[in-house]
Amino acid sequence: MVSEVDRRHVRRCVELAAEALEAGDEPFGSVLVAEDGTVLREDRNRVAGGDHTRHPEFELARWAAGNLAPEQRAAATVYTSGEHCPMCAAAHGWVGLGRIVYATSSEQLGSWLAELGVPAPAVRALPIREVVPGAEVEGPVPEFVEQVRDLHRRFRA
Ligand SMILES: [Zn+2]
Repeated sequence: MVSEVDRRHVRRCVELAAEALEAGDEPFGSVLVAEDGTVLREDRNRVAGGDHTRHPEFELARWAAGNLAPEQRAAATVYTSGEHCPMCAAAHGWVGLGRIVYATSSEQLGSWLAELGVPAPAVRALPIREVVPGAEVEGPVPEFVEQVRDLHRRFRA
């Protein structure tokens, strides 16, 4: 179940994705929220400099590993504008983070990019659960899908 609180955090992820776009980066944004609802960390995509591992979900996982106890990580939720790529899903799983809520799926992104004629990426997209079988995952969240799609269209325009 995606709650009103979840929607608020997903909305922030979409805002961060828009900030990434404004900064000339691919539009992705993520937020890490503690069990008590505290926003611990947020980030946006930062691959424009040439380091294509600078995804927000990866940064949040590494921050969590350095700053949270294992039980805090397991109780935290990662919100994100786009479903984790396999690298970020693996980091999430290795670090032992909890629930994931994404606005749009990798499958949706793949079909949008194909429509726009963007060549397939170097790393194949996989559903999070194929990388982390035990992950608790929710998404897409329909009310944000068009907005995220529009950000990707604008990035490729
Ligand atoms: Zn990623």
